[in-house]
Amino acid sequence: MTEERFGFQAEVSRLLDIVAHSLYSEKEVFLRELVSNASDACDRLRYAALTQPGLLAEDTELGIRLLADGGAGTLTVADNGIGMSRDELIENLGTIARSGTAAFLERLSGDARKDVSLIGQFGVGFYSAFMVADRVEVLTRKAGEDQGWRWTSDGRGEFSVAEEAGVPRGTRVILHLKDDAKEYLEQQRLGAVIRRYSDHVALPIRFGEGADAPTLNRASALWTRPRAEIGEDEYKEFYHHVGHAFDAPWLTVHWRAEGKIEYTGLLFVPESKPFDLFDPRRRHHVKLYVRRVFITDEAEGLVPGYLRFLRGVVDSEDLPLNVSREMLQNNPLLAKIKAGVTRRVLGDLVKKAEDPAEAERFAAFWENFGAVLKEGLYEDFEHRDQLLKLVRFRSTASDALVSLAEYVARMKEGQDAIYYITGDDIEALRRSPQLEGFRAKGVEVLLLTDAVDEFWIPHVGSFDGKRFKSVTRGGADLSKVKAGPDAEKKPAETVPADALGGLVAFLKATLGGAVKDVRSSERLTDSAVCLVADEGDVDMHLARLLKQHQQLTETEPRVLEVNPGHSLIRRMAGMASEGATADPALADLAWLLLDQARIVEGETLPDPAAFSRRLSSLMEKGLAPLAA
Ligand code: ADP
Ligand code: MG
Repeated sequence: MTEERFGFQAEVSRLLDIVAHSLYSEKEVFLRELVSNASDACDRLRYAALTQPGLLAEDTELGIRLLADGGAGTLTVADNGIGMSRDELIENLGTIARSGTAAFLERLSGDARKDVSLIGQFGVGFYSAFMVADRVEVLTRKAGEDQGWRWTSDGRGEFSVAEEAGVPRGTRVILHLKDDAKEYLEQQRLGAVIRRYSDHVALPIRFGEGADAPTLNRASALWTRPRAEIGEDEYKEFYHHVGHAFDAPWLTVHWRAEGKIEYTGLLFVPESKPFDLFDPRRRHHVKLYVRRVFITDEAEGLVPGYLRFLRGVVDSEDLPLNVSREMLQNNPLLAKIKAGVTRRVLGDLVKKAEDPAEAERFAAFWENFGAVLKEGLYEDFEHRDQLLKLVRFRSTASDALVSLAEYVARMKEGQDAIYYITGDDIEALRRSPQLEGFRAKGVEVLLLTDAVDEFWIPHVGSFDGKRFKSVTRGGADLSKVKAGPDAEKKPAETVPADALGGLVAFLKATLGGAVKDVRSSERLTDSAVCLVADEGDVDMHLARLLKQHQQLTETEPRVLEVNPGHSLIRRMAGMASEGATADPALADLAWLLLDQARIVEGETLPDPAAFSRRLSSLMEKGLAPLAA
């Protein structure tokens, strides 16, 4: 019989190195990982057998067994689940395909102690077997196939695979225990570990062979038990199992829907951001069961994309057991379940959002998942009102997050709009010249930095009868707003109207098509100029985003706003009215003003050479009196 040797994928070798040579204090989690795999394997077989009953053959009682052999010093974790073909064996136990693994490995520091605690949070699945074993054998035969296989490795860079006769269906992981891990031969010790981590596993986990071998776990699906009977630890362990997660649930939602459609939901909101949150496929991770039988974790219509951070299970009483994954698409029952799940989860989130005692925890949730939830504001009209209760913002008023209701409650007298500014970076936004006039009048402006903000705001349009208005766009009229007590003083001098008119006309004539218009500004107090998009034009940040993604080649020219209270503008207006409009120096100033406004927006200049020539000439003039 031929034996083939293979090298582990480099990432696996690194992982194994850390696992095997570290003084990991919680070695016992290897059992959680192996039992979890065995339970998944049984779930998958049960699902496959719905359409191919022959796969179960005469071995119909799915389950997991722990077999201890004191003489050989081995512990075996055996299941009669789906098993693995040769190729699957090589692929699954030689590489890591799990999402987030790359990110995990990047975070490894090389310092064994620190890395070990990271492993504790991340979990290393099958490879954790090498924490307690110096040699691992896997005997497996895939359901429906005749040939069995033996996988062997000492966890040092290589493994071998060979044909094996007489392997029962499913998988047996045989651990040749290290000397310091012999405790895992004892029933009592194993029972304690199983109850701690795997009590919720819906299959019996037995100690020993035979029908009367004692069962170590409760073996009932956790979600079928009444809420009052389930401890926080049990929920947490189940969350780890079902969500492949290692943090704590931020929120647990466990309910039973009764009436026209019946189902049980046990869903978790994670405490930390899952690695694949912004994967473009936007896949959710909620498992669908039908009457306790696992169907799929890819039921597309089960959870809306903007709730894809949820983990857990939905168990339907009404869907047919032999429902195929394809049949699930566009299934009206599933659509109803989705509506119910959405309503329930959003309802619980609103409760958290509106509880003042939870403000800090809610802020943490929002930092993680706010950008994802906002997708619902333009995708899901039906739940928009609930979502609007959840949205939180940074703003110019304070460092704390603000809700729309809070914003509206502190609007100034005469203010009829909700003002916002969008950009990439919160600190850059805070320094935007367009905010100056709002700050001077004490008007709060929301600071938005998620790309998705550009899309939901125009969709939603208004809140509580107040329109959303961008401060980087025309039509944000501040003249009706009464300055509050916190307002700053207005500059005493401004340019007389006719002189300003002359300057504006000169700027328009000089800048020509580079600007859409030149206007006197109400938004500026300190800066001389700023750019805004004309009312009805694409807002400036969105235009930049679209350009970055090649969705837009030409941006429309912007409106240049000038600050009539700024001394530079006053002097330029003076020069213009004294007839200096033919002076090339004044034209240079006009272009420098525009370029400066572009720079403040973080844009690249269309003609940097001209900019630097004009600036140098101006600097030279500035030096002239010194040299004389
Ligand atoms: P994960 O469970 O997160 O996918 P693991 O390292 O625990 O990662 O397992 C890797 C893969 O090996 C599993 O996804 C599965 O395909 C396969 N596998 C592991 N144990 C078993 C088993 N007992 N039966 C069938 N397949 C298994
Ligand atoms: Mg696993």
